[in-house]
Amino acid sequence: MNSIDEKLQPILAQVIRRNAGEPEFHQAVHEVLESLGRVVAKHPDYLEQALIERICEPERQIIFRIPWVDDKGQVQINRGFRVQFNSALGPYKGGMRFHPSVNVGIIKFLGFEQTFKNALTGMPIGGGKGGSDFDPKGRSDAEIMRFCQSLMTELHRHLGEQTDVPAGDIGVGGREIGYMFGQYKRLTNRYEAGVFTGKALAYGGSRARTEATGYGNTYFVQSMLKTRGADFDGKKVVVSGSGNVAIYSIEKVQSFGGKVIACSDSSGYVVDEAGIDLALLKEIKNVRRDRISEYARIKGQGVYFVSADKGSVWDVPCDVAMPSATQNELSGKDAARLVKNGVVAVGEGANMPSTPEAIKVFQDAGILFAPGKAANAGGVATSALEMQQNASRDSWTFEQTEARLASIMRGIHDTCFETAEEYGAPGNYVLGANIAGFVRVAEAMRMMGVI
Ligand code: NDP
Repeated sequence: MNSIDEKLQPILAQVIRRNAGEPEFHQAVHEVLESLGRVVAKHPDYLEQALIERICEPERQIIFRIPWVDDKGQVQINRGFRVQFNSALGPYKGGMRFHPSVNVGIIKFLGFEQTFKNALTGMPIGGGKGGSDFDPKGRSDAEIMRFCQSLMTELHRHLGEQTDVPAGDIGVGGREIGYMFGQYKRLTNRYEAGVFTGKALAYGGSRARTEATGYGNTYFVQSMLKTRGADFDGKKVVVSGSGNVAIYSIEKVQSFGGKVIACSDSSGYVVDEAGIDLALLKEIKNVRRDRISEYARIKGQGVYFVSADKGSVWDVPCDVAMPSATQNELSGKDAARLVKNGVVAVGEGANMPSTPEAIKVFQDAGILFAPGKAANAGGVATSALEMQQNASRDSWTFEQTEARLASIMRGIHDTCFETAEEYGAPGNYVLGANIAGFVRVAEAMRMMGVI
């Protein structure tokens, strides 16, 4: 890891002490503090007013019991979380994650990252995140519905379109949002369309929201490549995951002339040198909700599956890598292998998928590296566009919405690029994103007094 300015070290020490046993949160704070030495040199008042300490402390953390009954009639208990991290720029905004690995530290790291990501979009949204250790795999539709309804029976009192606006994340897509929104509406007796984003088009969703995170990451990587006179055309691309972000990254890369040759899920990865057949992948993942090995089985000759215990998707040589599954999925060793195999650009579709060691390898090798909090901001930016459409009771076309997304992503790219130059680290998108996001939140908080 890079070093942290000595004035900031006590802040990290305090975060670690106060949030014991939450390594992902420590990692996320560490990465941002590494970038802030240059900021406090310019703005010593941020230290005097304890702005950084305040930004590292969530405004509110809610932890609750979720009891529900499974199809066999047995009572199940899960734990629910909502961390309302920062509301200096607008209502808390960030997705809900359903995955057995979820705990308060994971949600806190995601909420912390979300605060800066949302600031980078330039839109009026604060940062929050939530979820549960519920495992949706193998659960029936009826079980998913009962679980979502029980979760919302508690969570609804903490939400509101001016207060806190959740969306999807790992394990939470259109189906789950429908069940949660339905229960919210029932309990509050209000049709508050803007309280959730990622809704279906039938009841206030936005066109292009489903595609937005993957498309947005692809636009960001395209802008990075352009700074070196390159583009996606003819490039070999590896995308990890095969969920929402991965699928729409693949779609956009293909439309830009890139060839995606591998993707994965938690059970392993598939390689298809002819280029991933997206229609088949969507059918397997979104309709049948099946495992990725099915892709190789159906495709047959020339296409192969490697299970997760035998190798990593990052073993596959490529020009562009787009990690789009989960945190810390790309290690220092993976990064070294990617560099050795000639990777030129990495765009993080997932949140914090590269370990600190991996980021260092990419940066030392001069690879174009886009951190998730900038590169995957297209999802939340389009969520903010959904909120705008809900507030004005309007509905935009796909083309209109995607054009706004593309322009927001180019804006985020340029902000990160220019901020890195301004602070003496040209080409360092990590530093550019951290500083630009932080300064926007810090300035708003400074003007509001000690909050
Ligand atoms: P999905 O649930 O749709 O897909 C997640 C994908 O990642 C699946 O293929 C899943 O495989 C794989 N995955 C999840 N956990 C692991 C794990 N522990 N090890 C290996 N593979 C894993 O989620 P999304 O596509 O929505 O989210 C992916 C990432 O993008 C997350 O980091 C999320 O925070 C981030 N993100 C999402 C946004 C959105 O709009 N959806 C916005 C911004 C960021 P399997 O099915 O086998 O579990």
